[in-house]
Amino acid sequence: MRKLEDLVDTYLHKGLRNKLVDTLKEKGITDIQVLEAIHSIPRHYFLDSAFDKIAYEDRAFPIASEQTISQPYTVAYQTQLLQIKKGEKVLEIGTGSMYQTTVLAALGAKVYTIERQKQLFEQTPTYLYKNQYPNIEFFFGDGFEGLPLLAPFDKILITAAAPKIPEKLWEQLKVSGKMVIPLDESETAQRMLRLTKKKDGTVKREAFDAFSFVPMLEGKTQK
Ligand code: SAH
Repeated sequence: MRKLEDLVDTYLHKGLRNKLVDTLKEKGITDIQVLEAIHSIPRHYFLDSAFDKIAYEDRAFPIASEQTISQPYTVAYQTQLLQIKKGEKVLEIGTGSMYQTTVLAALGAKVYTIERQKQLFEQTPTYLYKNQYPNIEFFFGDGFEGLPLLAPFDKILITAAAPKIPEKLWEQLKVSGKMVIPLDESETAQRMLRLTKKKDGTVKREAFDAFSFVPMLEGKTQK
């Protein structure tokens, strides 16, 4: 695992981040706090050094366990839909590279994040920004189960393609809370949904663009 003191954030990286933020604005991201978070977090720290020069291209890249770090546009899009306020309790399903997790923490959320791949979870104790963001807790488990003992949450973010709305997660959402979920629409595409829990417990459903995520799978891996 890479250590913060061994990593460098050069003017070149910063320049590329400026360009990435411009690209995200052109693609329709308007939330200044989200753009600032993307601007301030060195995405190349969350990738293998082989990706150093291309880390600020607006694309997903492979990480361990055949998973991916989400495309910056997708990270910005989902985060913008969540409308995070400082101090809110946010549950993230799919820790992956910890990049999206860091964006949520930078917005001041108290982040609870679950990963089902053991190899990815085992990287979390060496999280680079432990000191800067003590507001993150990492869990190894099945995101379909959520974290009942820590519920309810103000916001729930699913970063993998969900075959259905996970019932237990819906139960763990506060009244007026929001869940952002890419729900399977076909074998290769998901519809981004924002579900708000109304006072009477029913759902307000808003549909946005189509995306392509790695699948949300049941259970957790043994190694
Ligand atoms: N937010 C991550 C996205 C990683 S891709 C990032 O930007 O780096 C989606 C992640 O969800 C993968 O790491 C995958 O292993 C994880 N995942 C899939 N199904 C899951 C489940 N049921 N519970 C927890 N994590 C899950």
